[in-house]
Amino acid sequence: MIRVVCPGSFDPVTNGHLDIISRAAKLHDEVIVAVLRNLAKSSLFTADERIEMLREVTKEHANVRVAKFNGLIVDFCRANDVSAIVKGLRAVSDFDYEMQMAQMNYNQAGVETLFMTTNPLYAFLSSSLVKEFARYGGDVSGLVPESVLRRLTERLASE
Ligand code: ADP
Repeated sequence: MIRVVCPGSFDPVTNGHLDIISRAAKLHDEVIVAVLRNLAKSSLFTADERIEMLREVTKEHANVRVAKFNGLIVDFCRANDVSAIVKGLRAVSDFDYEMQMAQMNYNQAGVETLFMTTNPLYAFLSSSLVKEFARYGGDVSGLVPESVLRRLTERLASE
């Protein structure tokens, strides 16, 4: 039984995240999407809202579940019998930081990190860019699932 984790803040989940999650779900027995509860940066959505959106958009995958985590991802991996962390790599600029983090996690806890190259359709996509464009009236449909777009529009209108 190979269980992997896709960690992140998912504020909110985008089609880029979903692409990695669904491809990881095809390759492994179980995928846990681990949502970082306390963000250093302030988040637009609460952890519970981010989790609700993720559950909604991953419900067609029977082997994907969504959980909260706080602290170190390696501790989450130990506690949940997770073999590897799966991350999406968008561009060379992601690489330095991700490689360091992967080596640190292996050094600290023997947890492996698997990198998947992003779908080129979503290589430019990040939650922060989606929020920034949506906030100033940009059209982000096609970049996030429909249920997320609805919530995002509502949240930004109430700001
Ligand atoms: P963080 O808060 O760590 O930046 P995010 O919630 O933005 O995390 O993203 C979580 C993970 O999802 C990233 O570390 C990356 O591996 C992956 N990811 C984010 N955006 C994309 C994308 N457009 N394509 C592929 N993978 C992505």
